[in-house]
Amino acid sequence: MIRRVATLLAAAAALVALSAPSAEVDAAPRCQPQRPQGFLVRSFFIRKGRMDPRRHEQAVRYRTEHYGRVEGFGSPSWNAHEPRTFAQTTTFFGLKVELHQKVVPALACVEREIRAKCKEPYSPKALSGFRDHNSYRGGEITNHLFGIALDIDPDRNPCCHCVEPWSEDPQCQKKVKSAYERAAMPRCWIDTFDRNGFYWLGHDDLEDTMHFEFLGKPAKVLR
Ligand SMILES: [Zn+2]
Repeated sequence: MIRRVATLLAAAAALVALSAPSAEVDAAPRCQPQRPQGFLVRSFFIRKGRMDPRRHEQAVRYRTEHYGRVEGFGSPSWNAHEPRTFAQTTTFFGLKVELHQKVVPALACVEREIRAKCKEPYSPKALSGFRDHNSYRGGEITNHLFGIALDIDPDRNPCCHCVEPWSEDPQCQKKVKSAYERAAMPRCWIDTFDRNGFYWLGHDDLEDTMHFEFLGKPAKVLR
């Protein structure tokens, strides 16, 4: 009898444990808004096509130390690993994309906030994250090589001052008040990326409206 009571008590305790709110859920990390860091923004080290070598090196060093070293850039003493070592496949609105693992939580925050706040309909069809070749010339380095950049729908969100045929895109030809009008992506989406540490390259001389890069602090994404 005593053994039976003990078993019943144990079962009841297990049930209580199951139904009680889990401490893990209560302590689940939440997204913390942050802005891109100014010294990492492209226009800080490249203006009208001219590079400031000192500022550029400062940005390369930060990215190398935090995300890995791209062959041919920076010092191996800053980071011994390639960014690819930290590649992670994630999804954004159901589409797969490969990014640096430190950026994945930030993108999840963006998606959650867009779903909650952005009313204008938009469905991404094509994403591009990690890349193996440098699309920039002149000593510059694309953030796609660090795995911290994401392109969304190049056929709907052009890069107006990249190589042709982008510049001939009708969205690049039309007269606009701001680059927001060149992108098919809603302004609410762009602003949400910005609030979560991603810089939109539509603001840049390039008017690359498909491109977001995480320039926030990875350690500050969640609190
Ligand atoms: Zn891009």
